[in-house]
Amino acid sequence: MPFMKRRVFTILFLIVCVGFIGCNSQQQSDPTKKTLLVSFDGFKYNYLQKTDTPHFDSLVAGGVQAEGLIPVFPSKTFPNHYSIATGLYPENSGFVNNTMYDPKWDEWYRIRDREAVEDGKWYGGEPIWNTLEKQGIKTGTMFWVGSEADIQGMRPTHWKTYDDDMPGKARIDTVIKWMTDSGEQTVDFATLYYSDVDTKGHRYGTDSDSVRHAIERADRLMGYLKKQMKGESLWDKTNIIVLSDHGMVNQSADKLIRLDNIIDLDDTKRVIWGPATMIQPKKGKKEDVYQALKSAEENYRVYEKKELPERYHLKNHRRVEDIVMIADLGYTILDEDYQDDFIASLPRATHGYDNNQKAMQAFFIAHGPAFKKGAKVDPFQNIHVYELINHLMETKPASNDGSLDSVKVLLNEIPTDR
Ligand code: AMP
Ligand code: ZN
Ligand code: ZN
Repeated sequence: MPFMKRRVFTILFLIVCVGFIGCNSQQQSDPTKKTLLVSFDGFKYNYLQKTDTPHFDSLVAGGVQAEGLIPVFPSKTFPNHYSIATGLYPENSGFVNNTMYDPKWDEWYRIRDREAVEDGKWYGGEPIWNTLEKQGIKTGTMFWVGSEADIQGMRPTHWKTYDDDMPGKARIDTVIKWMTDSGEQTVDFATLYYSDVDTKGHRYGTDSDSVRHAIERADRLMGYLKKQMKGESLWDKTNIIVLSDHGMVNQSADKLIRLDNIIDLDDTKRVIWGPATMIQPKKGKKEDVYQALKSAEENYRVYEKKELPERYHLKNHRRVEDIVMIADLGYTILDEDYQDDFIASLPRATHGYDNNQKAMQAFFIAHGPAFKKGAKVDPFQNIHVYELINHLMETKPASNDGSLDSVKVLLNEIPTDR
């Protein structure tokens, strides 16, 4: 080939190569950017003080702990896990409760209804696994709310149908296998989820031995996780975020709100019970129901949907019912049918209350190369975790309600503007 022609050919070849690399969204696994997100459901901000937790303590000593993680309202499992995943408030994620009715579709969402849980149409926004997968990073979810559904036509590379009975260690083994698999499927972002602490809190109350033992089991799982990750040389290079979705508070027989004594339940079309009870009155009954609740307002607050305080970030979604009643901390809203069973089941605890209550705060620990060591920081809202993970993974977040500024106090190096 003549010299000039050869040079033109070489330049063209280089342009094609550079273009190919630039356009190819399939990144190679980067061993310096790995994030593991672990959730222990219902792990209250102060639970580490209840018992000996050597493994959590060593994570705290070598990492950073927040004095609390502030949940979104209502402080329930599904809204919170999905807000953590998307960085969106409930009115923007569509997850306004664990149980919801969608008036446009005339359909219900319930967390034990597998068809609904696996139906992507309920899940708004962009979960972190989609954000990362779109930017060429493989993800794996060993359970997370939303990860069993096709959202935006996508799923994590690895995901599992929720199985509460799957042993804790087996979940860890699976995730580590995903993170160490050689080849194109190597996962650089993974999640783990455990419901044990939440379940024991509900059933036996926050001061029970059962909760203490569940905290100790969680601690042993952290020990196992560290040992297995060290064995695979993952520990030192992985940023690990250990958190929970909300806190927990004891209920009692002297803190009851009998809804059927305040309003005529026959005037309602739907009542979605809970510390935040959502009520849809029958046509023409809204004013009666609201006025009855307003005039008896004691140990709870009642709002028409449109007057819900802005700080709840809830009212701008069609799945919120017309009237919302928020019990004071520890109070239980119920009717005659449930009262005896409820009292017989005491001591027990719950969550779902106002997210500005300290008792509703969750715990948060982060450990790894990106995080400060031995630091304590003030509580912050869980909607910022999505931005934090994007920062750790060097990806571009989708539009969301959080900000990296709110969590940069956790980081070793202050991030500069993206
Ligand atoms: P809550 O009623 O808010 O306390 O919800 C906690 C329950 O959510 C736990 O008992 C879990 O078993 C359940 N849960 C968590 N993740 C999932 C999931 N992906 N699919 C179905 N149930 C789940
Ligand atoms: Zn929960
Ligand atoms: Zn719970």
